[in-house]
Amino acid sequence: MTKCPVCSQTFQKGDYQALAKHLAQASEKNDPFHVAWLQDYVPMPNYASPDFLNHLRDFFKISDGSLKSWIATKFTRKFYSEKPHPFIEAMQKPKKSIFMGYGVEYYFFLRQKIKALAYVIAKTDKDDVQKLEAKIITPNIVYDMKDGNSEIVLLFKMYEGLGITRDSVLASMPLPPTIYSLKVWNSIAESDHWLETMAALNTMDLFYCSQLKDFGAKLPYFSPTVLDNEWIPDSVKHYLKFITDSPNEFSMESLDLIEKYAKELNLIEEVQSSFMRSLDAMDRHLQARLTRSKQYESK
Ligand SMILES: [Zn+2]
Repeated sequence: MTKCPVCSQTFQKGDYQALAKHLAQASEKNDPFHVAWLQDYVPMPNYASPDFLNHLRDFFKISDGSLKSWIATKFTRKFYSEKPHPFIEAMQKPKKSIFMGYGVEYYFFLRQKIKALAYVIAKTDKDDVQKLEAKIITPNIVYDMKDGNSEIVLLFKMYEGLGITRDSVLASMPLPPTIYSLKVWNSIAESDHWLETMAALNTMDLFYCSQLKDFGAKLPYFSPTVLDNEWIPDSVKHYLKFITDSPNEFSMESLDLIEKYAKELNLIEEVQSSFMRSLDAMDRHLQARLTRSKQYESK
């Protein structure tokens, strides 16, 4: 099925004409979500123009047959281009409040990711997929606070270093944009194909992927000077080092599996659509990290 990358309305496989009509109609009605998507990814002065269909086809076209590189390239353009996402920009010269806002909002994303990947394990019978997802989620569910080998433990230790109590985070609510995004990810995990859940959640690990520069990334997740900065607590450095260290980084392995099964199960268009919805959800969640940082600044 071809799926709208904004509202996930379905159309017959390969029917980009129907999708273009749907998007043009939504633009005509000034639907803010569809309009924002169109302006971001297929900017045109007039969506009633016959050229729109060609531009839309080009956007979803997988050149050289690599879905993996289509995903990585779209991800890179969204967050790591010359005009990077404001959160990535903030991570190049971070203030204490950035790490605080980041750590607190991120906790809710991590919990949602674990839950969504558990859905993948439950819904598939593919051993290689189950094994990868289990490798990612187990250390974040079964952990010992003395052990520094899981992301969640290092995140909790980062809170201590920043003067935030873990209990206060666990008792807090995410900000509205994060709540919105968590609902998107949860709905994909509950209702869509397991491969779409992988396309939505596993791909978000691309943030930490060192190979992203091969797809055009103009900057890293955080400036390497952060690790030498004396005022930054060690617990923050340990956390950042852990998530970007290759043994803990599964994004390329995930992309290989997504590509393999999208071809095998004939789900390329579904994967593209769910990945696009997740990009938007992540954009909102990153904005929430910045808003939360500002709240800490003003305290
Ligand atoms: Zn739609």
